Amino acid sequence: MVGFDLSQLPWASASFDDDRALILDVIVAAKARTGWNRLGFAPSEAWLQPRLDQFRTLIEVFAIADASQNNADVWSYGGKPEHWTVCPIHDIYQHSYGCVLCHD
Ligand SMILES: [Zn+2]
Repeated sequence: MVGFDLSQLPWASASFDDDRALILDVIVAAKARTGWNRLGFAPSEAWLQPRLDQFRTLIEVFAIADASQNNADVWSYGGKPEHWTVCPIHDIYQHSYGCVLCHD
């Protein structure tokens, strides 16, 4: 099981509304199966679709006041990146340990 604490995403007051709108757009795209062909496995729609709806509800009610103010919590996985790199295979941003789709 993989998970994360929503409050520990790198939220910023100045861009909070746009960032939250982006995540809501990503949820809409995920519900429409956008990019599922790049996953390397077939997600269970019966399991995933209701969870995407639950995630959308969490994002909709999340407020900047709920965001962690502790950078050690926010950047606990590999630290804050010094630069952003894109996976040449999947054309997505990589985290400190590589691409989530390449399973680096
Ligand atoms: Zn990749």
